[in-house]
Amino acid sequence: MFPDAVAQARLNELALQRMPCGVFSVDRQLRVMMWNDFMAERSGISVECALGEPLFDLFSGLPGDWLRNKFEAVFLLKISTFTSWEHRPYLFQFTHDRPITGGIDWMQQDCTFVPLTEGVDVIAVCVTIIDVTDLAIAQRAREEAVKALREVSIRDGLTGLFNRRHAEERLSHEFACRQRRPIASFSVLLLDLDHFKQVNDSYGHPAGDAVLKAVAERASRCLRPDDVLGRFGGEEFIVVLPGTELVDAAAVGERIRRAIEAEPVRHDGLNIVVTASIGAAQVREDATTANEVVRDADRALYEAKAAGRNRLVVASPGLLD
Ligand code: GH3
Ligand code: MG
Ligand code: MG
Repeated sequence: MFPDAVAQARLNELALQRMPCGVFSVDRQLRVMMWNDFMAERSGISVECALGEPLFDLFSGLPGDWLRNKFEAVFLLKISTFTSWEHRPYLFQFTHDRPITGGIDWMQQDCTFVPLTEGVDVIAVCVTIIDVTDLAIAQRAREEAVKALREVSIRDGLTGLFNRRHAEERLSHEFACRQRRPIASFSVLLLDLDHFKQVNDSYGHPAGDAVLKAVAERASRCLRPDDVLGRFGGEEFIVVLPGTELVDAAAVGERIRRAIEAEPVRHDGLNIVVTASIGAAQVREDATTANEVVRDADRALYEAKAAGRNRLVVASPGLLD
């Protein structure tokens, strides 16, 4: 047997009160006309205190202009509207009870604004507040994991520099920019440690690793934030210098060379002398691939090795032909 109208209204009322989400409504003057248990518990404002009060008197921290416009639109257009936590994390500053929040301080909320019509008139707007904090925490964790994975995927594990793949991607990017804007020239340095095999042979592989880390650190200190320093191979490094002419690239390379030879690397009570040879090249005007400038720098590096090491050689036309 169906309950009678009074019992039905009572059931509806109870259902609204017990909903596991916030439900309230306001009239044209934005006075609270209905306030369910969820709203009372989370806000600390009881049904008795809320009813009849202007919403903005009850909460000083509400986004005033934005929320007034939202209500106005629903009263006027007579259609529902929705706001996602991704655009506005919360409407009411409610606490949440999750132990690990990953930086999410307040309950994240999806809100709907529904017109309550009688005939053709909207007599009130009903708002539902859904707690989506768990979703937000999961999404934040996912975003952070993706960020961390991406970071790992572009880094060299030992030195923390960019890995070869990423350095080459950045090189290709510079090359593509130059094709679009011919004035955007760039240069490349290739750096190879001298007699590095001897370091490993004399002091052991961990000492060699410490040298590689120290060299990476010393070279980094000589560069601008836009420069790209990558580990190109075992004891080879590449530097891509955007917007840099050869003469300036040579000066940067020389600074790096000096920084490396300046003092021995200290490891496990050892003083390990380390030097590097460097080849410098500027992308040629008629270059058709990004690899050509690396090949030019590599030839200059070979010359630096042949000329006695611990020096920088600039790729010159004679060297390249
Ligand atoms: P050159 O002056 O001609 O460059 O001589 P080199 O001894 O530096 O050149 P070679 O290419 O013969 O040796 C490079 C050495 O680098 C050999 C390899 O064992 C060492 N190496 C490569 N990667 C690593 C690494 O990750 N850690 C350590 N410790 N050594 C590495
Ligand atoms: Mg080498
Ligand atoms: Mg070497």
